[in-house]
Amino acid sequence: MTLPFSGLTDQLESIHQDGLYRSRRVLDSGQGVHLVLKGQPFINFCSNDYLGLASHPDIAKAFKQGVDRYGVGSGSAHLICGHSLAHHALEEELADFTGRSRALLFSTGYMANMGLISALVGPSDTVLEDRLNHASLLDGGLLSGARFKRYTHADTEHLNRQLEMSAGKALVVTDGVFSMDGDFAPLAGLAKVTHKKNAWLMVDDAHGLGVIGANGGGVLEHYGLGQHEVPVLVGTLGKAFGTFGAFVAGSEALIETLIQKSRTYIYTTATPPALAEATRASLKIIIAETWRREKLKMLIKRFQRGAGQIGLAIKPNESPIQPVLIGDSHKASHVSRQLEQAGYLVSAIRPPTVPKGSARLRITFSALHEEQHIDQLLDALSHTDL
Ligand SMILES: *Cc1c(COP(=O)(O)O)cnc(C)c1O
Repeated sequence: MTLPFSGLTDQLESIHQDGLYRSRRVLDSGQGVHLVLKGQPFINFCSNDYLGLASHPDIAKAFKQGVDRYGVGSGSAHLICGHSLAHHALEEELADFTGRSRALLFSTGYMANMGLISALVGPSDTVLEDRLNHASLLDGGLLSGARFKRYTHADTEHLNRQLEMSAGKALVVTDGVFSMDGDFAPLAGLAKVTHKKNAWLMVDDAHGLGVIGANGGGVLEHYGLGQHEVPVLVGTLGKAFGTFGAFVAGSEALIETLIQKSRTYIYTTATPPALAEATRASLKIIIAETWRREKLKMLIKRFQRGAGQIGLAIKPNESPIQPVLIGDSHKASHVSRQLEQAGYLVSAIRPPTVPKGSARLRITFSALHEEQHIDQLLDALSHTDL
């Protein structure tokens, strides 16, 4: 008789052989451009802290003051007695920031997407997703029980054909800035075809909010789209905001529906109120300090110019996510290790996070990088086996 989990070691071994084994790095330092691992310093090119806010002193101070006022734990779910003035004020400020009627906080982006899609569509409906959507959007679509269709990446025509054949209510779901490629969804086209078919468009702008657009309004600001064109907007707070959590923004009816029906909202403990105070401080900086977005733009251009000069396989885009395509998973891990030996942290992204045969380095920039960091990274890249 075999034990129920006796196959696990064989499975782990085969993950190893495919070059897909994942392991964690243990940090001795806080987040920033400079990280310390096992006492060794590294320059960080793999975090999503695009604006360099994760260790910002004003945000840390707001967090501490929040703890002084509210303590640590929220005590319960939002609908019991866990919804504080801090959460409420943050929701109002996020609604203002995104130009929407209301916003609702979720504990994480993953939970927001799981709970949101299931609250909007069910088994008699259809959910249509870009093939390269983030895992949480795909999982949210599957959990909803709706008919699940995936359209070719950024292909408005393909979506249009699928919409023609869809049953029930239709929800179209896309990343705003694609998390592993850095390109923008063609939102104007997507909004047009969804509108024409009376479907809803939901955009998860986890990597765009705070970073893209002159005011940090994300890809919607970039394209000049509002609540009418994109009725359902998801933002996360653990990336450019430098804190933790997520929110959904949209109409009064949308938010009230989520409060009544979204299981990942209802059946979970509210995040600490002090965290909401920290995010409020972060939002103030995001709005006021436009130099962070301008500096990022400059750094991205510098990288793209330099990468072109040394012949790297990049797909230029306007986000701080700059992938270098490699293909083979073993090779991607090897190059990432070579960079690490040289003192640079760059992650190798492999399947199933990206499609088979499209392993890559995912280089990300922060407003706290300096031009010399970009030049040093380019030099290190030119000395790898790329
Ligand atoms: C990171 C990410 C999420 C998950 O957000 P968390 O708050 O980290 O759970 C959701 N969607 C996209 C597109 C992301 O990149």
